[in-house]
Amino acid sequence: GTPSVPAKPLSPRRVSRQIHVGSVPVGGDAPVSVQSMTTTLTSDVNATLQQIAQLTASGCQIVRVAVPSQDDADALPTIAKKSQIPVIADIHFQPKYVFAALDAGCAAVRVNPGNIRKFDDQVGEIARRAKYLGTPIRIGVNAGSLDPRLYEKYGKATPEALVESALWECSLFEEHDFRDIKISVKHNDPVVMIQAYRQLAAACDYPLHLGVTEAGPAFQGTIKSAVAFGALLAEGIGDTIRVSLSAPPVEEVKVGTQILESLGLRKRGLEIVSCPSCGRAQVDVYTLADQVSAALEGLDVPLRVAVMGCVVNGPGEAREADLGVASGNGKGQIFVRGEVIKTVSEAKIVETLVEEAARLAEELGAD
Ligand code: SF4
Repeated sequence: GTPSVPAKPLSPRRVSRQIHVGSVPVGGDAPVSVQSMTTTLTSDVNATLQQIAQLTASGCQIVRVAVPSQDDADALPTIAKKSQIPVIADIHFQPKYVFAALDAGCAAVRVNPGNIRKFDDQVGEIARRAKYLGTPIRIGVNAGSLDPRLYEKYGKATPEALVESALWECSLFEEHDFRDIKISVKHNDPVVMIQAYRQLAAACDYPLHLGVTEAGPAFQGTIKSAVAFGALLAEGIGDTIRVSLSAPPVEEVKVGTQILESLGLRKRGLEIVSCPSCGRAQVDVYTLADQVSAALEGLDVPLRVAVMGCVVNGPGEAREADLGVASGNGKGQIFVRGEVIKTVSEAKIVETLVEEAARLAEELGAD
């Protein structure tokens, strides 16, 4: 099993300033967090919330949603409100969606300096609004969409070009006394990516979001990300990670979590995860999740327990959880690793989960 006392870290953590993406601290002494991105149409609120439920159940801590259209921007207030984990709006091209995302209550907004022309003029207003709301900004530089000025200067997306683009964008925000920033400089080549992050780490104290872009299908992407993140995290660089795979986002979270566990950066303990609830919910998920948390408090085993709002998708969405409940019609389906093992009345949900958790804990202890 997982050793309960992590080994000494490979090297001291780079000292970065801490920001808060909603409830999740990023940077400083905060544990390295795992994030992913939905693949649904953001404008399809229920589908997006359902995918967020899957991600939450698999241990994802922050989720990003793409906002390419006004319909997507219009969906943000509901998604931001209902998601159980902080939602970052991903904005390219259109500064008006940055304002929409900020006003929608998103936990952070990602902007790509290479893709937002005439953006520079609006940085002041964005900085003021974001500061007022206490919302951080991720400056997300991508090799595939490098600022044309830097492309011209360097000839290609070199580490220097990626870093210069990021720091230039930071300086625009800093002019407005805005420093609630995290940065990514993604490249599809782990060697370039590692060099870019090393340079960036030395040049600023902003928290860093690690990512290899277009990492590829699951096998290749897993290895590229593990190698690149592993190299950087072993040097103490990196505050939050997103594995990009051409695969369902839950797979990204599994890989990301495994990378952190492999490096001793994460010790698994008891984790209660719950779905954000959507139009299908037949129970007050938040209250039930609180009751389950209270009942299992003190159980110090690496178990992920999911509380899901409906029996239609709950067990399936929580497949990566060890144990869970999907509620509906005054009953609760109790499931273990995505398979329904029994159905109990609502009044018996909490005690049944406690029993099953104890049984699983015993199994884990015996391995
Ligand atoms: Fe998924 Fe059901 Fe929760 Fe909706 S209520 S997010 S379908 S588990």
